[in-house]
Amino acid sequence: MIVNMTVGMIQEHTYFFIDETTKHGFIVDPGDEGKRILKYIQQEGFVIEKILITHGHFDHIGAVSYLREALNVPVVIHTEGKKYLEDASLNLSFSFQGAFTLKADEYVNEGDEITLAANPEMKLTVIHVPGHTLDGVAFYSSKENVAFVGDIIFEGSVGRSDFPGGNGALLLQGIREKIFILPDETVLCPGHGEPTTVGKEKATNPYFNMDL
Ligand SMILES: [Zn+2]
Repeated sequence: MIVNMTVGMIQEHTYFFIDETTKHGFIVDPGDEGKRILKYIQQEGFVIEKILITHGHFDHIGAVSYLREALNVPVVIHTEGKKYLEDASLNLSFSFQGAFTLKADEYVNEGDEITLAANPEMKLTVIHVPGHTLDGVAFYSSKENVAFVGDIIFEGSVGRSDFPGGNGALLLQGIREKIFILPDETVLCPGHGEPTTVGKEKATNPYFNMDL
């Protein structure tokens, strides 16, 4: 089961990826409004095993420290995310919100699998697509046909590449080589805006259809 909760001034999507049988699961990008997120977790009886971060920008990590403390669970980010979490200029909190930093507990890399302890059939594969940031990843479930893509790709758009570590050409290449090879019906859950699918973006995203 996937639940989206939209949080904060920037309307960032926090996702719950939950096994319906055990109610165990992961939370992806708790960006703000930690108290509201915690209340929802308690109300639903979810047991969160890990906090997963698609990339270390402030609007995706603002409630991470609060929830780690409240839930006592590890925080997981790509290896390149360490410097973003620990540097308020890189995570952009210095410019946009009031500087804050934090540390992750576990680091992952391309191809790693994050498995739910309560039900090992529920797992997410790490797909590293730098270009919006150095640490950008998608968390992909082939079983559930879904990928949490952070700010890599949006409905009809792609992530900005003008922040520190950004690289527009690399981003487009990564999307082509690692996201567009997923099955067309794969649902892409982005950090902002509407969900979409691989097939729809391959066919209509203007960054890949210059002649449309
Ligand atoms: Zn971002």
